[in-house]
Amino acid sequence: MCPHCGNTVPAMRVISLSDGMECPHCQTRLEVANGSRMAATAAGLAVAWLVWRVTRDSTNILGFALPVLLSFLAFGIVSPLVLMFVASLRTAPPPPVFEPVAAHGGHAASVHDHAGGHH
Ligand SMILES: [Zn+2]
Repeated sequence: MCPHCGNTVPAMRVISLSDGMECPHCQTRLEVANGSRMAATAAGLAVAWLVWRVTRDSTNILGFALPVLLSFLAFGIVSPLVLMFVASLRTAPPPPVFEPVAAHGGHAASVHDHAGGHH
């Protein structure tokens, strides 16, 4: 759902371009909020782990490879599915802004003091 114009953004578009996309209705730059992407990844990992646990116990000709393959598939399927349901879009800032890394004023100040004392 586009936060700018209120129109629905196709779920496939959200999944395939979750790092950034344009709203098909109003051309606003959008991105999936970090929280929902984290939730999707966490859910995918949880399901992958579950699948691995379940399939690992069944002795089978393929032995070790199958659980890994299945859990990998589970992650690949579940993660985008969860993202589709929980994804909340937000408007992205139009130009990529480089934020100054030295946001910790106290640390920067102490470093500066140290350098000054040495000099
Ligand atoms: Zn829009």
